[in-house]
Amino acid sequence: MKKNVMITGATGYIGSWVAKKLLEKNYNLRITVRDAKNKSKVQHLIDIAEKNGSKIELFEADLMKEGSFDEAAKGCEIVVHVASPFFLNVKDAKKDLIQPALQGTKNVLSAATKSGTVKRVVLTSSVAAVHGDNIDMKIKGLTEFTEENFNDSSSETHQPYSYSKVLAEKEAWKIAENQNQWDLVVINPSFVLGPSLTNLSASESLTFMKDMLTGKFQMGAPALFFGFVDVRDVAEAHVLAIENQTAEGRNITSERVMSVMDLAEIIRNKYGKKYKLPVMKSPKFMLYMIGWMFGLSTKFVKRNIGYPIKLNNRKSIEKLGLKYTEMQKTVIDMVEQMEEQKVI
Ligand code: NDP
Repeated sequence: MKKNVMITGATGYIGSWVAKKLLEKNYNLRITVRDAKNKSKVQHLIDIAEKNGSKIELFEADLMKEGSFDEAAKGCEIVVHVASPFFLNVKDAKKDLIQPALQGTKNVLSAATKSGTVKRVVLTSSVAAVHGDNIDMKIKGLTEFTEENFNDSSSETHQPYSYSKVLAEKEAWKIAENQNQWDLVVINPSFVLGPSLTNLSASESLTFMKDMLTGKFQMGAPALFFGFVDVRDVAEAHVLAIENQTAEGRNITSERVMSVMDLAEIIRNKYGKKYKLPVMKSPKFMLYMIGWMFGLSTKFVKRNIGYPIKLNNRKSIEKLGLKYTEMQKTVIDMVEQMEEQKVI
């Protein structure tokens, strides 16, 4: 008999790919949505379920509503908790990012425990919970970040999204340690790119690529290095976390680290002058003056611009069993999907 899986955040960019892969494997999916009346957010998943003859059920639940995940988790063996707000331009970090991330983790994991049937919980954390500012690698005397590291430089006022992910993941580990019904496997993706199954997501991944292609960085891109990974690989990591009995702990999923200029080069090599891509790096002194235009604070510029980082992805390959898609393919597939859907 196919297992019942509850998934949160399946309407989103990453969650849609996780849900697609699970539906294609004929798991019975319980999808939690904030507004069950808004069918446009889930139609793509209903279509995939129909195509594969698999079962999909919708439950209304909100990260901020205590007990709202209990009904969906009843009778499930697996819970996949993807949902959490991911946007960087926030007015009220506590209300918009931190509370939903933290309260949501408590509510979803409590539903897993109350179910009495859940055996494994897979949590979508982030490398933002592994490391904070890029300068931290140097300050800590590290040559790379591994699953042993926790971000300790983000706060409610500095990199609040990252802070929300640290608090949520730490809370998840605390809850997991205080019960013995289910085990926890955490996926820590770096910045996710690749084609989207939905145009209704507000994910920074989609905003960033749109900005890149429509000229936001045309005058110059910040010398900012970060990890990148394909959305389909991140989804596969979640499936492996469900199916691979030896999966455990935290798992950094990241194909490579590169700069914004490196990313622009991948697009330029394929599309030439078709898009308004950056042609040069913005000098750091310039970013101190105009960083606010890109949403970069002075502290962020000081502690991140020009500092390379390294992310160790060995565990995801050797223990989880993940095979990575080359970033060239990821980026081109994403641009093609955006062109087809007339997003750009
Ligand atoms: P999306 O914005 O596309 O997805 C976020 C999902 O969370 C949506 O399904 C959204 O539902 C749901 N959600 C948000 N707030 C609430 C709430 N109050 N109650 C219930 N559901 C809520 O972002 P991504 O797919 O990019 O991100 C998904 C996860 O992956 C997040 O946990 C994020 O931190 C993590 N992540 C993302 C990375 C990236 O580069 N994209 C990198 C590393 C981690 P709704 O449709 O109703 O808005």
